[in-house]
Amino acid sequence: MTRYSRKKGNHGYSAKTRQLKTKRRTRDLDEIDKDLEPQNAEKLLNQPIDLDVAGEAQHYCLHCARYFIDDHALQAHFRSKVHKRRLKALELETYSVKEAEAAGGVGTYVAPKKRKMETQKCKE
Ligand SMILES: [Zn+2]
Repeated sequence: MTRYSRKKGNHGYSAKTRQLKTKRRTRDLDEIDKDLEPQNAEKLLNQPIDLDVAGEAQHYCLHCARYFIDDHALQAHFRSKVHKRRLKALELETYSVKEAEAAGGVGTYVAPKKRKMETQKCKE
């Protein structure tokens, strides 16, 4: 009998694996931050009918950058843990070049502020 050697290959499903997965990859938080600006949000919430995406692109969650098949699914999503977690993640202002420079000694450093995040208003 030999001693059980070092385990090779599969090290399980780690946080790193999740980062590297691209199948269900959505937009990054800084991209979503840009989407939340009123003029961009307006465009995303009133998209033309697209038969290639779920629900013909009529039910979209701005914060999670996801499409839903109908209004019922969208409402259920708003009450879900993933959506609430995302709102929390978006509360802090996004990291920018300006902040990086300030931290490095260029200009004055202003700590990122918390802001209030609210679920988008539903259309009738
Ligand atoms: Zn959401």
